[in-house]
Amino acid sequence: MAYAYDDQNIFAKILRGEIPNKTVAETDHTLAFEDIRPQAPVHVLVIPKGPYVTYDHFAGEASEAEIVDFHRVVAQVCREMEVTADGGPGCRFISNAGDYGVQEVPHFHLHVLGGRRLGRMLQ
Ligand code: 5GP
Repeated sequence: MAYAYDDQNIFAKILRGEIPNKTVAETDHTLAFEDIRPQAPVHVLVIPKGPYVTYDHFAGEASEAEIVDFHRVVAQVCREMEVTADGGPGCRFISNAGDYGVQEVPHFHLHVLGGRRLGRMLQ
């Protein structure tokens, strides 16, 4: 099965400038912005600008330039928000995918959550 991308999803509208966002970082391939319903003092979403639905879709089909750029922006966000685990307090990365992953917006995004101690997710 091939992934079908819905270009009417909310992040596609943000990328087209149809909906405002609070940008944290931006490059040619990647956008990072604040989540509208933050679950922690730091809650940033990092998204590729290309039409990818989930992390595995992105990892499998994006160019090396897009993939490298995305991860560099993740690192930049962590440094700017002071949530690295390297001398800082640390954070959590989450990416929900599909029905069982309870993904709300069908454009791949990585949540970066920090600024408080988070509850344990996996036992
Ligand atoms: P998911 O459940 O798909 O992993 O998470 C989607 C995230 O997008 C949620 O945390 C939600 O708060 C956020 N979100 C939904 N609509 C908007 C929006 O219009 N602007 C921003 N900045 N975040 C949004």
